[in-house]
Amino acid sequence: MKLHETIVFGGCVVFVVLLAILVGCASNGGAMTTNMPFLEMDSSPARRPAPTPVYRPAPVVATGESLWDAPRTSRDWRYIVMHHSATTSGNASRFDQLHRQKGWDELGYHFVITNGNGGPDGQVQVGSRWRKQKHGAHTGNTPGNEYNEHGIGICLVGNFMNSNPTAAQLRSVTELTEFLVERNNVSPVNIIAHKDAPNQHTECCGRIFYSYVHGNLKRDVQRHLASR
Ligand SMILES: [Zn+2]
Repeated sequence: MKLHETIVFGGCVVFVVLLAILVGCASNGGAMTTNMPFLEMDSSPARRPAPTPVYRPAPVVATGESLWDAPRTSRDWRYIVMHHSATTSGNASRFDQLHRQKGWDELGYHFVITNGNGGPDGQVQVGSRWRKQKHGAHTGNTPGNEYNEHGIGICLVGNFMNSNPTAAQLRSVTELTEFLVERNNVSPVNIIAHKDAPNQHTECCGRIFYSYVHGNLKRDVQRHLASR
């Protein structure tokens, strides 16, 4: 093949390839055009099923011991208030959802400790409320809102009226409480159960955990402080 023939042949090849690409585009465009009436019908409000509300909470949960310390200037924390969820399962995201449905700003507790049903056994989940050093929404109706304004709320997942917290939950709540007492200079006397606060009509944090809080937990925290 001579040089000018080669150039002509090459040009033909390029032309054919370009034509194929153009045809390809055109056929896609044709398909879209063909589908358009269908799409228009599909998007008409009359034919669309009623939208189902979808709840998408902002992330409220983080885990990891490094997050137990909060990034902002600390609030004047005076109490650590123990709760149980009174449910067999759950986690911070789930409770955040429930609390928002009640009209609250976000998850009412600062920390949630899961029990293996809804989250790993003994995992400490840190609510965004704690990261912001924001008042709690877990022990209301007290004079001056003292126990929300100055109380760190910890909720263990479980119903401790008739069942025990798991061993992993107890280890975690002890470590977390020791950390918080030390960080915030909270008196061990002020490690309390929800029902200990004034005006509370509740059995929270459940009979079994209540005994533990006022027995082993306080004793362990006091020993920890004495050993420092
Ligand atoms: Zn409670």
